[in-house]
Amino acid sequence: MPFIQIEDSILSFRLRRSLRAKRLHMVVKEEVFEVVAPLKTSNREILAFLKQYQGWMRKQVRQKSRTQSVTKMSWPADFLAGEYIPYRGRWLRLNVKFNDRALMECHEDYLTIMVPWRHAFGGLSQYVKKQIWLWYQQEALNAIKDSIDALCPKLGRWPRGYQLKKQKTRWGSCGISGKIYLNWLLILAPVGALEYVVAHELCHLFHRNHGKRFWAKVASCFPEYEQQERWLSKQGSALISLSSF
Ligand SMILES: [Zn+2]
Repeated sequence: MPFIQIEDSILSFRLRRSLRAKRLHMVVKEEVFEVVAPLKTSNREILAFLKQYQGWMRKQVRQKSRTQSVTKMSWPADFLAGEYIPYRGRWLRLNVKFNDRALMECHEDYLTIMVPWRHAFGGLSQYVKKQIWLWYQQEALNAIKDSIDALCPKLGRWPRGYQLKKQKTRWGSCGISGKIYLNWLLILAPVGALEYVVAHELCHLFHRNHGKRFWAKVASCFPEYEQQERWLSKQGSALISLSSF
């Protein structure tokens, strides 16, 4: 699929030349922009047409990332440009570019993955998938650390450490030693959900049960906890279905 570079983001489109087309136009087919061009249209005309449409295309991409819920999500069959992946309750469109060195960059609604040239000749999707996996882990660890840094001064107690876990039945746990464990899938959920689970596990440093005093502690450091509890009980199973990354 060709790409068009617009400012700092990239839109991809499919070009279809048609005998029957009387004029250049654009259709969205299976979430892909398709430019339909009469046979004799020059590349320059196509480019001018795309420039005209770029604002509209960007709006479509943004709208999609806002309206689509994580619940409808399944992983793309191939991790290639134009596909969407969930991240912190929204959608990122993959932008895959070849480069001399590997690099990942998240900007607005795009995740740009710079891929070394050698992967152009096979195994590209697998390579991209692996990079996304590593990126998710790093982002999740950073998010947990940020939450700990924000919550612990209020609580006056710190965990012994923190770690990600691949789990299908729990969002988090607090070990006897004082270490907290978090399900990596929370990096796909809205920001508040991960923050809430960190707060919940930190409160287990004070109370090892789910009694009244425990919930009072949670409410004191994370007042909007009920909203996040509701989100997790409603959408949690959809999130868990993504565990087969
Ligand atoms: Zn608990």
